[in-house]
Amino acid sequence: YEALQSTGNTLGNHVDHGAGISRQLIGEALRSRVEAINQDTCEVGDEDAFFVADLGEVYRQHLRWKNNLKRVTPHYAVKCNPDPQVLRLLSELGTGFDCASKTEIEQVLKIGVDPSRIIYAQPCKTKSYVRYAAQHGVKQMTFDNADELYKTKQLFPDAELYLRILTDDSASLCRLSQKFGAALESAVELLELAKKLELNVVGVAFHVGSGASDPKAFLKAVQDARFVFDQAASLGFNMHTLDVGGGFCGETFEAMAAVLSSALDAYFPPHIRVIGEPGRYYVSKAFTIACHVIARRTVADATLGTTSYMLYMNDGVYGNFSSIIFDHQNPVPRILQSSNGFAYDKHRSGYDTPSMTEYSIWGPTCDGIDVISSSCMFSETVDVGDWLYFEEMGAYTKCSATRFNGFTDSHDVLYVCSEPGASALLGL
Ligand code: PLP
Repeated sequence: YEALQSTGNTLGNHVDHGAGISRQLIGEALRSRVEAINQDTCEVGDEDAFFVADLGEVYRQHLRWKNNLKRVTPHYAVKCNPDPQVLRLLSELGTGFDCASKTEIEQVLKIGVDPSRIIYAQPCKTKSYVRYAAQHGVKQMTFDNADELYKTKQLFPDAELYLRILTDDSASLCRLSQKFGAALESAVELLELAKKLELNVVGVAFHVGSGASDPKAFLKAVQDARFVFDQAASLGFNMHTLDVGGGFCGETFEAMAAVLSSALDAYFPPHIRVIGEPGRYYVSKAFTIACHVIARRTVADATLGTTSYMLYMNDGVYGNFSSIIFDHQNPVPRILQSSNGFAYDKHRSGYDTPSMTEYSIWGPTCDGIDVISSSCMFSETVDVGDWLYFEEMGAYTKCSATRFNGFTDSHDVLYVCSEPGASALLGL
């Protein structure tokens, strides 16, 4: 970021330029993989769905974060996509990590991240995982209830605790406050108990909901956190860190960041450290998936005189499209390879052409819920053996894929990098 500033380039120019290179690299990677597969002779699984990940996109998102949220040190939410190269890049960029389980903590420690850069941000923790965190020096963790305090007293009395408070997450895609967060009215009781147990409460945490859309949610949450900081001070705690959680999306990031930054400046003096737990913000756009059409059914409507088609792909909602169920996403299908040739980026603006054929797109399992798009229009014919691609498949996709029906939950990732700065950090 500093290097960018010293060249006099604006972030906007840099992002536009990088996005152009990104499309070119992703297109080349998709083409070489797809053209190398002979579906009539290939080994089982060679034609499986695969991802192309542009690590340069993750890097650009980091620059954007630093440009808009200088005060907030990001702790990447590993749950969103624990891709090893993404973790490595973020580690090199100096972010922290939000881990929710022993496996996530272990994965981050294994790449050499210092335990002080990890927050175990799960208010309801497994006992043996707390012991693991204690043994490995991962001190920062969240809590939101009295039982968790007793558990911490027993297993990790030196932990650095963050009281997670409830937020208004009604305008978010995935609501979290139904499950986690202490009501503001109960904060004082929890703090009193922590005092009695001689536990170390160092800060407040909140999460406005994943895929948040109302910037005011951040303002209210920061105000509530201030209230809890003051309560804690009156009980003799010296809180030093505020954790503003995740919930940031690419489209609304600048608006969110502006509200959050001014709320932070209004309510928290500069000596208070601020961390965040962004997940989807970093990876959503960085991953593109290519899927192969394994079967097709013709649907002729004699009354209307129309013909449409049902396409069956080799990935679906039990696989990487789990985001449709768990994350309320609507991935947009695009043609990658058809009898007309390679088509990456070709149809981007052609979706409203009137002479189009209707398709529905299905996953490979035997369950009727396994539908990716109930209706989409293509101007080209799509047949068995053709390939489709879907962009923005980096968040809450492969991490929640299953093996239902015996399909694989492990798909290749081809890495490209549209940012020389990221390539240098990774030694690519
Ligand atoms: N932090 C916590 C505690 C979460 O539960 C989540 C998502 O569920 C995140 C961070 C990441 O949220 P997002 O991907 O919306 O940034």
